Amino acid sequence: MAILRSISHSRTGRQYGKRICLAIAFLIIFSINLVGAAEESLQIRLNTIGYPLNCEKKASIAAACTNFAVVRAADGSSVFTGKVTGPILDPDTQEQLCTADFSALEQPGEYQLDVPGVGRSAPFRIAADVYRDPFSTVMLGMYLWRCGTAVSATYHGQTFAHDPCHTNDAWLDFVGGGHTHKDGTKGWHDAGDYNKYTVNAGITVGTMLCAWEDFEPQIRKVRLQIPESGGALPDFLAEVKWELDWVLTMQADDGSVYHKVSTKRFGPFIMPEKETEDRYFTPWGSEATALFAGMTAQAARIYRPYDRAFADRCLKAAQKSYQFLKAHPEFHRSDRVDVRTGSYEIRETGEISGRLNGIPNNRLWAEAELWETTGSPDVLRDLETRIRTINSKVNFEFDWDEVKDLGLMRYSLSQRPGRDPGVVTLVRSNLLAVADETVRTGRQHAYASPIGSLYNWGYNGFVARQTMILMVADRLTRTENRPEYRAACQDALNFIFGRNYYCRSFVTGVGFRPPMHPHDRRSGADNIVDPWPGYLVSGPNSKATSWKDDQGDARSNEIAINWNAALVYALAASLPDATKTNWRPVSTQVPR
Ligand SMILES: [Zn+2]
Repeated sequence: MAILRSISHSRTGRQYGKRICLAIAFLIIFSINLVGAAEESLQIRLNTIGYPLNCEKKASIAAACTNFAVVRAADGSSVFTGKVTGPILDPDTQEQLCTADFSALEQPGEYQLDVPGVGRSAPFRIAADVYRDPFSTVMLGMYLWRCGTAVSATYHGQTFAHDPCHTNDAWLDFVGGGHTHKDGTKGWHDAGDYNKYTVNAGITVGTMLCAWEDFEPQIRKVRLQIPESGGALPDFLAEVKWELDWVLTMQADDGSVYHKVSTKRFGPFIMPEKETEDRYFTPWGSEATALFAGMTAQAARIYRPYDRAFADRCLKAAQKSYQFLKAHPEFHRSDRVDVRTGSYEIRETGEISGRLNGIPNNRLWAEAELWETTGSPDVLRDLETRIRTINSKVNFEFDWDEVKDLGLMRYSLSQRPGRDPGVVTLVRSNLLAVADETVRTGRQHAYASPIGSLYNWGYNGFVARQTMILMVADRLTRTENRPEYRAACQDALNFIFGRNYYCRSFVTGVGFRPPMHPHDRRSGADNIVDPWPGYLVSGPNSKATSWKDDQGDARSNEIAINWNAALVYALAASLPDATKTNWRPVSTQVPR
């Protein structure tokens, strides 16, 4: 505008008027070209966060092309050129996809992928620490989920906050306590709703504490934006303790564990402090009890160096629930009474997962954690009996309804003596077989998703969670130099941050074209344009092309603690120095 004003003020007269019109036309055309050049091509799909050093770096291009170049984002200068491979038909999306492989580019910097005839990709980085900020942001998402307190955090200049909520949790009417209160405050809101479910807490806490046990030195270096930061507990454990403090309130006097704390019906899209409907403990279930025992047994081990009293409390609670389960070996479904929010119940057709996988083996995880913490021969006997009963079978994918894979991983990686060598060998072999199947699945999927075409509810959570089995395989084969497991972990993050059909990041506030309308009550009610940051949305559901960035689409655009926890694990596995293996890229291309 400043240029136009100087021209129009310089001369007067008809001739000059024409020249001014020509100049304006030229500037308009020129500026359109500039905008065109600056806009990122949505046909070039890659990880818009970036790539760590020493890893495969690939992009998918949904257009006909031959060559590509990696150029500096600052000045467009080329640092790497190559030829694409393909195209290959993606049967899930019916796209013809070419692949650009620039794995050999190891020079840190900010780049774009330039594909002649197609355009330039979104900017991305190559650096050792590309996942540090996303890790911190996803953990900020966990903090912002806190219930029973006010929360506030500033992200990219915008403050996200709410007043104390649900401080009266919860009534005992449905669990035999009459119309009286018992403390059930704290914990994280479960998802897009504000209720709290023990079963989903199980896989969430289990996954996050696994991240701590596997990558503690790397996680410690990331300071989190939480009130306890810099206190006696490491920041990460302080955040998880907020959930555990609530989890501990879910145990009944006899050791059974209540299924949830919830309103009777889902509330409207209002801020949490505005939701003042009564909330209730709901009756116990065997799976809530097993998951409770697993969480508290694991916590007892991990928190002991920092908070002995809390560790003792967790262990006592774990043993009490373990004894209750031994006295009640049957599968006991929670009575949902008149509380019709999320069921998180197993073996009900049409429920959240819709999976019918028989009687779940969540007790296996509880036993594995309790044995790892205490070394009790009795618990080991129970654990190995259960493992033999299921023929050491490892599930290809798992979620809140059955976490036995967590137990098999713990058992397999344990340094404790006394295990049956035959069982150890079989579990190890089955874990590796599933990890190999995951690698194969990713190689066969057009966007290298390690969960492939299983477009179930929470697809992106499954993508992230698959990194757990891959990292176990990486550790079990440490001496064999098997780079494919870590490569598949990177593929999972590539998918989540933009190498996908949508050319978008699936995490609010992070990466290129992130979700703007998650199914999240706070994001819908706070009158702020941006959604609350740090949340992985569910993703394509039933088919690859079904995701919608639509608040009303709970099936594909909700957020949930179990999916975020899986992403916490995947990102922790890719923090700087998280790899101790001698990793070598497999590209044959040479940087210029
Ligand atoms: Zn709340």
